[in-house]
Amino acid sequence: MGVGFHRRWRHHRAARRCRPQLRRLRLLVLDVDGVLTDGGLWTTESGEVIKRFDVRDGLGIRLLQKAGLEVAWLSGGKSGATEQRARYLGIAHVLTGVRDKPAALVALLAELGVGREESAFVGDDLNDLAVKPAIGLLICTADAAAPLRRQADWVLDRNGGDGAVRRLAEELLKARGDWAELAARGWRDRND
Ligand SMILES: [Mg+2]
Repeated sequence: MGVGFHRRWRHHRAARRCRPQLRRLRLLVLDVDGVLTDGGLWTTESGEVIKRFDVRDGLGIRLLQKAGLEVAWLSGGKSGATEQRARYLGIAHVLTGVRDKPAALVALLAELGVGREESAFVGDDLNDLAVKPAIGLLICTADAAAPLRRQADWVLDRNGGDGAVRRLAEELLKARGDWAELAARGWRDRND
């Protein structure tokens, strides 16, 4: 049994354990670089930054929004690529260039009137570990920094930029009973 098997087994065990919290979740906050991307930054001579987003994560986010969840992005970085992608996906709360992620999260929860236990955050690195006291559920990618993986409530079985958010979206919809119909009938709107 290889690494892949163990990774999936841990993922499914955590998904099961988190189910009660997934059912009452109202806000999902996503880090961007390393979660919605593989963390790579292409930098052109003129200073423009190019990032690669996964279209399957895009559909996962749309499905969650349709199911009534608020999806927000919280990034320490600041680039036109992130803001452009967020606009395209209809993300209402996009916080970029954030130095203090825990403080930004506390403010966002207060602004939206969402309780800590109704919130979850997905990250990949040490600056995301700092949000733990501010969030209900701390989730990370399979390739997150080791200290974050050790302390997260849930380590996903996919890497950042490789469908990690999509995986989480499917588990969330399953926990809430919204998945069976989608799986049976498919999706009829934009998937981009
Ligand atoms: Mg990151």
